[in-house]
Amino acid sequence: MQVFGLLGNPVGHSLSPPMHEAAYEALDIDARYVTFEPDRDAAADAVAAAETLGIAGLNVTIPFKQDILDAVDLDDVARRIGAVNTIDFSTTPPRGYNTDVAGVERAFAHHGVSIDGRDAVVVGAGGAGRAAAFALADAGASVHIANRTVERAESLAADVPGATAGGLDTLDCVADADILLNATSVGMEPDVDETPVPAEHLHADLAVLDAVYSPIETRLLREAAEAGATTIDGAWMLLFQGVEAFETWTGRDAPVDAMNEALRAALD
Ligand code: NAP
Repeated sequence: MQVFGLLGNPVGHSLSPPMHEAAYEALDIDARYVTFEPDRDAAADAVAAAETLGIAGLNVTIPFKQDILDAVDLDDVARRIGAVNTIDFSTTPPRGYNTDVAGVERAFAHHGVSIDGRDAVVVGAGGAGRAAAFALADAGASVHIANRTVERAESLAADVPGATAGGLDTLDCVADADILLNATSVGMEPDVDETPVPAEHLHADLAVLDAVYSPIETRLLREAAEAGATTIDGAWMLLFQGVEAFETWTGRDAPVDAMNEALRAALD
């Protein structure tokens, strides 16, 4: 039996175990997916221990995505982003990937939204904003990053090819954009009445992905749908980072429908 898992602190409410175990069941793979919660300063030790124990693959979440950069051999995307969320132990040394980037790209592709040549606005410059900005720029979009703390947006934009940056007062550019991605926590439970982008900027030619998945239908997505925009909820981004991790570990096409069904059942 192969063992996969999630390294984080805390990991109590993770949706990854049901999502990945649904994939093993659908493809009749003899594997389990478990969670590990080491002390905050023990991430690199945990990676070494996992290798010793023969663990096949790990996802990595807050607060360890940067802590383990020196404990693995980085693939190109993970190196450029400076964060690892997936480790494959089939090689020595283990290899670190960032599947959050592919998760963003694949969520848009799944909904028929093309990114190449489009104008995109990312709201937020934390971990999710970083993955979103790299994903959209790598897929050929012109990216503007708007963040409450302007310096954080500027610092991220300096790393992302061609990106511009500003504060939340620059969000009026959404009116001329093709793609909007909310990567802030605004609108998340319990503050479900809040929205990161005023409804007046939303329009029918926009595709809106909200990284927030709790609730599934945020105020931003509700108002975007009312404006006629294409809407993509945060569970799609979460799903496709998991799909990409599964495919990295197994070399097989992921059973996307089974994983999606399990994820949405767990979210309910
Ligand atoms: P993070 O690193 O802590 O970043 C938080 C971001 O939200 C920062 O840009 C912060 O701005 C902004 N922010 C927080 N409160 C705000 C407010 N009241 N007004 C305006 N901006 C505010 O968090 P993260 O890991 O990037 O996660 C952000 C959201 O994405 C969370 O809801 C998380 O659950 C979600 N997420 C979803 C996925 C997925 O797969 N769907 C993956 C990762 C994260 P400042 O820089 O000014 O503080």
